[in-house]
Amino acid sequence: MATPLTPDRLLAILKAEGVKTAEYPGWRTRERDDETGKPFGPVHMILNHHTAGRDSLAVVAKNGVAGLPGPLAHIHLAKSGLATMCSAGRANHAGLMAKNAYDSFNTESSTHPAPSKASGTVDGNDVSYGIETENLGNGTDVYPRAQYDAWVRINAAFCRAYGWSAESCGCHKETSIEGKVDPLGPVEGYGTRGKFSYTGKQFRADVAERLKHPASWLPPVTLPAPLPGPVPKPTTEERLSALERRVTELEKK
Ligand SMILES: [Zn+2]
Repeated sequence: MATPLTPDRLLAILKAEGVKTAEYPGWRTRERDDETGKPFGPVHMILNHHTAGRDSLAVVAKNGVAGLPGPLAHIHLAKSGLATMCSAGRANHAGLMAKNAYDSFNTESSTHPAPSKASGTVDGNDVSYGIETENLGNGTDVYPRAQYDAWVRINAAFCRAYGWSAESCGCHKETSIEGKVDPLGPVEGYGTRGKFSYTGKQFRADVAERLKHPASWLPPVTLPAPLPGPVPKPTTEERLSALERRVTELEKK
C-alpha cells in the first residue's frame, strides 16, 4: 500500500537524498483532507509543477489563490534548491488528471500518452505528491543548476521510499485536462550537461540515472577549464635567435 508518508518520514527521505529542507510553520497539520472529506492516498506518482511566479512560498504553503485554498503542494522548491515542506496530506495542486495519462504513470509505462479527457478522469489530489518549483514559466526564466539538482533528488527520494521507477514522475502538462503547460523553461545545466530545455522525458532520465546510485550520490560535474597562466616573456637570447632566423630568411630571398 502506498500510504502517504508521515511528516518525519518525508523529511528523512529528503535529507537522505541530500536535499536542503525547511519547514513552513504549521505544515505538519495543514492539508485539505478534512475540508474536502477526501483523504489523501494511496499515492501512486509525483506531479511536478512550476509556480508561474516569484516569492510564492506563502501562497503555495498556506494562502492559496482565489477559488483554490492552500496548501497548493507538498513541497515548494526555491531557486536556491531549498525545499520547504508545505503539507503531508491532501494538497490542491493536480486538479483532474486524464485517466490515460494517470494510468501510464501508475503502471510505470515507458511512454506517456497525451492526456485525453475522453479516457475519463482521476482526482489527481487523491493520488499524487505535488512539487511546486519556483519559476516564472515564461519560457525564459532559468532553473538554476542547484534547483534542478534538488528537483531530481526530491523525485528520486519518493521513488526510493515507495520502490517506484522514474516513470512515476510526471509533469502537470502531461496529465492535465485543463491545458496546463507546466513545467517548462530553460535549465542552467545538470551534471556534465550544459543549458537545456526542461522536458518530462529528460527529467525522468535524470531521476532514473540517480536511482542507479545510492541516495548520497553526487552527479559528476564538468569543472571549468583552468584559466591560462601568464605567458612567459622570451629571454634576450630567444629574441636574438628569432631575429637571426628572420634575417637569414630575408637573405635567402
Ligand atoms: Zn501545475
